[in-house]
Amino acid sequence: MIGAGLSGLVAARDLVASGLEVTIFEKSRGLGGRIATRRVDSTVIDHGVPALWSSGPLAELAAGLDEAPLEISLPVGDSSGAPSSGPRPLAYPGGLTRLPKQLAEGLDVRRLVRVSVMRASGDAIELGDEQGNGQGAFDGVVISAPAPQAADLLATLDSERARAGMLGAIAYEPAVIYIAGLVLPAHPPWFGVRGLGDGALSWLGVESAKGRPAPGGRVPVTAHLNATLSAELFDATDAEIAEVVRPRLVEALGQAASDPAWSQVKRWRYSVPTSRVPFVDANPAGSAIVVCGDAVADEPGLDAVLESGRRAAQRIAAT
Ligand SMILES: Cc1cc2nc3c(=O)[nH]c(=O)nc-3n(C[C@H](O)[C@H](O)[C@H](O)COP(=O)(O)OP(=O)(O)OC[C@H]3O[C@@H](n4cnc5c(N)ncnc54)[C@H](O)[C@@H]3O)c2cc1C
Repeated sequence: MIGAGLSGLVAARDLVASGLEVTIFEKSRGLGGRIATRRVDSTVIDHGVPALWSSGPLAELAAGLDEAPLEISLPVGDSSGAPSSGPRPLAYPGGLTRLPKQLAEGLDVRRLVRVSVMRASGDAIELGDEQGNGQGAFDGVVISAPAPQAADLLATLDSERARAGMLGAIAYEPAVIYIAGLVLPAHPPWFGVRGLGDGALSWLGVESAKGRPAPGGRVPVTAHLNATLSAELFDATDAEIAEVVRPRLVEALGQAASDPAWSQVKRWRYSVPTSRVPFVDANPAGSAIVVCGDAVADEPGLDAVLESGRRAAQRIAAT
């Protein structure tokens, strides 16, 4: 398994449950991929996907683990002030990564290993890392990385050039996230707002709505620049990004938001895909290399990402 995000972990668990031996390689130190949490100012902040929105499969899976998520009770609105429809958001007070951490329990995860090359060797597929070390030979490989990274890896095998081209053509929106602790006169009565004001912020979320503290009254917020601004400002300095975000925070939360107690910036090169290919097109029947994740999911959303992992496991188990 290449990648320990949601789709990879779900696939790995299913494969282990079907009696197969699975090794997971994850390039990062943390688990969860774009389900990401960092510790700041004596609290935790989810700086990737803001919540687990699920209308079924993900909520059911999470409810069956030792620590279940809570339903965020404060509303999500849109820029007109209207509550947005759709599944209710779930979160963990200790951070969204409580989900991948629980999913990974008992699995063999090799962290800080970026798989960068595949080689065919008889019926097996050999994997190598970016340092040039061999990481073993496997009967099957699941690639759960975002499509551009999956494409780079597939392109290292001559026989996979066509599939690499298909996945390499899928573009992702970048995301620039401004994270800050704000001393506000009152806690906002909502968890998040989409498309704020002129649309510059695709999301403004209040982390303390997830059953977490607002240490010393500092309300932790995450502000996501929209896709266009994220692309424009991806390489801008943190100070330049703050200049763009702060007037929007003031608009939404009042003058007190102009002077954060602290702030940070997180940049994601890949947040959500702008197109997808059907799972069956990306995965020819009988192939021992299977691709899963949001670029080959049936529809947008985490439930479909999870389902792509389940399908990948079924494919591998059937080969
Ligand atoms: C800021 C932001 C906001 C988002 N908002 C939403 C939203 O509102 N709604 C929604 O549905 N989705 C949203 N998403 C997208 C959602 O988070 C993803 O679709 C989902 O988490 C993808 O899971 P995945 O398993 O497909 O991939 P990932 O979570 O990306 O997991 C892939 C893993 O593979 C690892 N990896 C990659 N290459 C290698 C390699 N060569 N070797 C080893 N490991 C490798 C990565 O480190 C990563 O851990 C958002 C994402 C971001 C970043």
